[in-house]
Amino acid sequence: MDTNPRFSQQQIYGPVTSRRLGQSLGINLMPAQVKICSFNCVYCECGLNDNRVGKTPKQDDIRLALKKTLESLKAENKTIDTITFSGNGEPTLHPDFESIIYATIALRNNYFPEAKIAVLSNATLINKPDVIRALKKVDLNIQKLDSAVEHTMRTIDQPTRASFTVKWVIKQLQAFEGNVIIQTLFVKGVHEGVAFDNTTEAEISAWISALKEIKPKQVMIYTLDRPTPITTIEKIATETLQAIAERVRKNGLEIVIAE
Ligand code: SF4
Repeated sequence: MDTNPRFSQQQIYGPVTSRRLGQSLGINLMPAQVKICSFNCVYCECGLNDNRVGKTPKQDDIRLALKKTLESLKAENKTIDTITFSGNGEPTLHPDFESIIYATIALRNNYFPEAKIAVLSNATLINKPDVIRALKKVDLNIQKLDSAVEHTMRTIDQPTRASFTVKWVIKQLQAFEGNVIIQTLFVKGVHEGVAFDNTTEAEISAWISALKEIKPKQVMIYTLDRPTPITTIEKIATETLQAIAERVRKNGLEIVIAE
């Protein structure tokens, strides 16, 4: 086990250089040093879920901290490509997620109108009307689909809710009518005695079928880049990612590999 998870210490962090999002200013809606997530991915850089509790930041505090940071960046003549909701867990779990998104859009328009707003989400709450409304307003609505095969998804992502299934999430993702980007992390290994590999022929074939149903505006694929809480998993070769990307393109979908 990796005993050194990477937690966001603050509500606003960065800008950091992101593989997928350029110069990205991060917003963490979870408590510092505590991970809160409706998944428990084997590769999560925040570590596995535990019983620690922390104080969820208030929406006004987040707005003020973001305003202060954007003002400082502006005063220093810095630029940002993206304001990204990520951090120590699933951002849509914050009870005021919708209001926070609207406040962020207003601040972005004021300080860095050219910057995009991104939400990195695991798609577990995309049946909630407030979450859907907010996600429809952001520039980059990035939702996770690590496998379209039920047992593989459960092994890799370990959803905390039994009712979260591949069938359910594909249906919810379709409801965005293309205003969604699908993110998929490719990985293989063993966890608790169960071997998995989401790059096999059966996996890729099911995943591409799911993509064709969802019709996302883009697909982002990547593999491990940072230490993981489970050490019996491995990254996927770049050539394999390239071959997967080629198949997706042949199906008429836009895809980027984050390396
Ligand atoms: S969805 Fe993200 S934050 Fe949640 S466990 Fe997976 S990698 Fe970690």
